[in-house]
Amino acid sequence: MKVPLLDLNAQYEPILEDIRQEMEKVFTSHKYILGPQVKDFEEKMQEYCEVKHAIGCASGTDAIVLALKALNLKNEDEVLTTPFTFFATAGAIHRVGAKPVFADIDERTFNLDPEKLETAITKKTKAIIVVHLFGQPAEMDRIIEIAEKYDLKVIEDNAQGVGAKYDGKIAGTLGDIGTLSFFPSKNLGAMGDGGMCLTNNDKLAASLRQLRVHGENPKYFHKWVGLNSRLDTLQAAVLLHKLPHLEKWSEQRRKNADYYYKKLQDIKEIKLPKIHPKATTIYNQFTLIVEKRDELLQHLKENEIGCAVYYPRPLHLQECFAHLNYQKGDFPISEILSGKVLSIPIFSELKREQQDHVIKKIREFYQ
Ligand SMILES: *Cc1c(COP(=O)(O)O)cnc(C)c1O
Repeated sequence: MKVPLLDLNAQYEPILEDIRQEMEKVFTSHKYILGPQVKDFEEKMQEYCEVKHAIGCASGTDAIVLALKALNLKNEDEVLTTPFTFFATAGAIHRVGAKPVFADIDERTFNLDPEKLETAITKKTKAIIVVHLFGQPAEMDRIIEIAEKYDLKVIEDNAQGVGAKYDGKIAGTLGDIGTLSFFPSKNLGAMGDGGMCLTNNDKLAASLRQLRVHGENPKYFHKWVGLNSRLDTLQAAVLLHKLPHLEKWSEQRRKNADYYYKKLQDIKEIKLPKIHPKATTIYNQFTLIVEKRDELLQHLKENEIGCAVYYPRPLHLQECFAHLNYQKGDFPISEILSGKVLSIPIFSELKREQQDHVIKKIREFYQ
């Protein structure tokens, strides 16, 4: 039996006709740039995320760059974040000319540890980028408390956590700006690249809307330099027909996770991810902490079970950040986990017999 890490075919099958028809409308209207589907989707996202402004852009990476620019972060400013995330989080900080500064994570939630975050603050710190990794919101109440104490801005990189909640509120709407990605493998994925900024702040929203069109206002007049970064109308057409299914899909992922918790908890070589009592995760990934990770990965691959390592090298040890002068040992939890994490199939359409097969092959390996 083959079990992919993600089966987009199963996800698209029931909605493909609706998407085709929506795309037809774009083909005949020729409104490719910021067409009516973009506005429609932005409004639907405002409703879904219970937020005042949703501003579409070209990718999740661009969304972070736009957020940093809207908050006016630049040279010499330090932006705190986690080294245990997808590259884009820190890459965006570097791109605007600011300096990424890292703090280590909690060993079971994979998210920033608020205590370590606080000790990394200096006089130059201007902002924090919190990442809601694998779909679980970080401890936002404590992080916002710290941000208020030191007068720091908060960006939530919520690329992996669309629709997740912390203390009943939608992740990505708790800080100053939240960012989303519609990369195909995210829980709300497009048929290409796409991203979005969320904010309740009218001024920041106006800045973000200017920044995605080269910073112009009015047309052809530029007070500052922005990006060319819009959510493509065709991608908005796709997303419009996926959003109504998102809650159901997330619920299904949580059910799949419950089953893994039940069936894998007794294996002593495996630690299951811990969910904070205030967090409602959407499980973009289901990530185990395991002994003999590389051998298990090999065993699962040989048995045609999709699995992946997110992420094999923490960002403070990436070659491109050598100038930041971090050393091995600076963030031990991130470093140890990068050698032990393994994400296994959790997608919504995963069948029970497929999941049983994954469980069986994992048990087989440790016996
Ligand atoms: C996917 C992802 C991004 C970047 O999104 P793109 O749409 O691929 O640019 C940023 N941060 C995190 C944590 C991500 O997982």
